[in-house]
Formats: sequence, C-alpha cells, structure tokens
Amino acid sequence: MIDHRPVMEDFGTISYREIRRDIGRRAIKHTTSLTLAIPDGRSIDVGLTRVRGNIGNGDLIYLVCPCCGGRCWTLRLTPDEHGLMCKKCVQREYRVPYRSQTPLGYRRVAAIDSHN
Ligand SMILES: [Zn+2]
Repeated sequence: MIDHRPVMEDFGTISYREIRRDIGRRAIKHTTSLTLAIPDGRSIDVGLTRVRGNIGNGDLIYLVCPCCGGRCWTLRLTPDEHGLMCKKCVQREYRVPYRSQTPLGYRRVAAIDSHN
C-alpha cells in the first residue's frame, strides 16, 4: 500500500536567501515589506523585520509569517487562505512530520512517487 501522507518537504518554499538574491543585498536593507507572487496566482504581502545582530555584522533580517506573525527565514507554500506559512504554522495546521521523522519504507515510497 502506498502511503500518500504529506511531509514537510512536500510544501514548496520561499526563502529569505532567494528573496535577497532577487532584490539585492543593498536594496533589501531598506525594504519593509514585499508582495510575493505564489504559483497559484495570488499575491501575498510579507513583512520583513530586523533584529540587532550580536556579532557586529549589522541587523539580521527575517521574513514575517503571514499566519502567526513570527520571524522566519523560510516560508512554505500552503493551499489555504494564508498561502504562505512558517514551518511552525505548517506543523500546527497540517500535522506533517519531516521526511526524516517518517519510517524508512515510507521515505522510499515518497521519493519514487515524487519523480513520477
Ligand atoms: Zn507562522
């Protein structure tokens, strides 16, 4: 029997690193929010927040989760009204494990599946 339960890795991601590469290091320092186009055609506003770094490299910039308002560096694409969520929200809303937390047999089935 093939197990189709989703795992965290099934959710597409948008990372701060990708966004910074897109916008440019200098421009992102002055950016406070972004409108991100996600694959289903919607545009979602995502805030950026800054936390003072403690190793002298300036502020750390984080994405603000549109669901919980928490800080994160990676947002997951979700098929719900939020569209993007941090991993904590995905875990809370979808109860999905990471692939590494699933039994080995299930991991193999999922890997074969995803290449079809
Ligand atoms: Zn969240």
